[in-house]
Amino acid sequence: MPGKMKVALVGIGKIALDQHVPALDASPDWTLACTVSRKGEVEGVEAFTDMAAMLAARQDVQVVSLALPPVPRFAYAEAALKAGRHVMLEKPPGATLAEVHALEALARARGLTLYATWHSRMAHAVAPARDWLQDKVIQSAHITWREDVRKWHPGQDWVFEPGGMGVFDPGINALSILTEILPAPIHLTGAELEFPGNRQTPIAAQLRFSGNVTAEFDWRQEGPQTWDIRVETDRGGLDLRMGGNVLEIDGVVQAGQNSIMGEYPALYARMASLVREGESEVDLAPMVHVSDAMTLGRRVVVEDFHF
Ligand code: NAP
Repeated sequence: MPGKMKVALVGIGKIALDQHVPALDASPDWTLACTVSRKGEVEGVEAFTDMAAMLAARQDVQVVSLALPPVPRFAYAEAALKAGRHVMLEKPPGATLAEVHALEALARARGLTLYATWHSRMAHAVAPARDWLQDKVIQSAHITWREDVRKWHPGQDWVFEPGGMGVFDPGINALSILTEILPAPIHLTGAELEFPGNRQTPIAAQLRFSGNVTAEFDWRQEGPQTWDIRVETDRGGLDLRMGGNVLEIDGVVQAGQNSIMGEYPALYARMASLVREGESEVDLAPMVHVSDAMTLGRRVVVEDFHF
């Protein structure tokens, strides 16, 4: 059994504390060696406020995991790769497609692992859903992703700044599942994007794709939250509920469990095997759909939004 690898966790905010730290604490593969964050810290773990200082001081740390928002992430990823470290990226993997291609090329040139994670693909029922759909004819699919931005992103103004993606920040999770489970690729054919008058990114979106696939994302949902994908096939209907964690076929639960807590342990296990095998994994399909929606989407201005 190979020893644990040391990882530096960068951007100690909501997702780092909610998911990355517990997943690392419980992992047989990883030791959280240090953090880099301007303000955030993890109790009992060496804390740096500057990336260059960490990379210089901790030559023993082979891997850097970036849990920052997408816009500042590229500079940190580039610095880590140039310093010879393997890199794991939170979703979405970057602010633009081209910058992720640049990171991919850098990692390849230096023989390093780059892992663009999609945590929702690790939800309990995604693999069983993909397997069930593999030999079916897809007649239609619909995503319903409705959640309350005030609950999940309290005060995080970056989501409404350029590059923050707005409602596509959660919506890209749905697209990461869809692109994983459908047996053939689809492409965007049209979209309506609802921008609050005082914001730079959409708060709701309706998307249409080839293959009779549609999606509705809305961040103004109060009360019950919905993260569902429905797929109609020639041999029955599939429902993925709870963000890909529960699978129903023709209304009967088949697989999964109603918990998101398996996703980050699975991401870190995957990163460990990628590093050990000297491989990278960078699938930009979910981000291509978001980029296409921003390119092709019709803009509608809606009521101002304040946290
Ligand atoms: P967050 O709490 O707002 O940000 C994480 C940390 O990044 C902040 O605490 C901050 O730490 C650092 N940071 C923020 N802006 C920065 C900047 N301009 N330059 C350098 N550092 C900066 O965000 P989050 O909710 O954790 O989301 C981070 C990423 O995880 C996003 O890509 C998001 O899509 C993804 N994600 C979030 C969730 C969720 O439930 N929130 C779930 C899954 C994935 P310091 O101020 O200490 O530097």
